[in-house]
Amino acid sequence: KLPVVAIVGRPNVGKSTLFNRLVGKKLALVDDRPGVTRDRREGDAHLLGLDFRIVDTAGFETDDPQTLPGRMRAQTQAAVDQADAALFMIDSRAGIVPLDEEIAQWLRNSDTPVILVANKAEGRAGDTGVYESMALGFGDPVVFSAEHGEGLADLFDALLPHI
Ligand code: GDP
Ligand code: MG
Repeated sequence: KLPVVAIVGRPNVGKSTLFNRLVGKKLALVDDRPGVTRDRREGDAHLLGLDFRIVDTAGFETDDPQTLPGRMRAQTQAAVDQADAALFMIDSRAGIVPLDEEIAQWLRNSDTPVILVANKAEGRAGDTGVYESMALGFGDPVVFSAEHGEGLADLFDALLPHI
């Protein structure tokens, strides 16, 4: 049975772009509108010879179970709880915003190992966000660009002990 890795993070940080890159098919919906992935998607991921199941999540905005976003958040949390490792993605160009802090707080109380991924870090535009993300409590991030495929070897190194 393949190990399972869940991608978690606020809308628009690049989760589905990473999912698509690792699965190699356009299975996840990538869109400029925040939160456009409406359900949980899974695929077989390949990363430099490492094989695992990858879960793309969506929704962490509210925890009210009476609403669709609330149910999406519950689904995201279940996916992380069931995973062997979680990739916690932030947008290094946007920097750390309150929803990142909220997700981080929840992840710190989870038993799932967390790997911080600072996405959109191509060029220098992400330098400040990369630095800010170190305060989230998950150590140094994997400096990454899902769009350009940068940081894949560092992601491999970070995942290897957990899967
Ligand atoms: P999700 O909501 O977290 O699943 O984010 P998406 O994967 O849908 O991506 C949101 C937007 O960010 C899209 O316009 C992507 O093209 C863009 N994006 C994703 N990864 C990168 C990256 O590494 N660098 C830059 N500059 N943009 C990215
Ligand atoms: Mg998405």
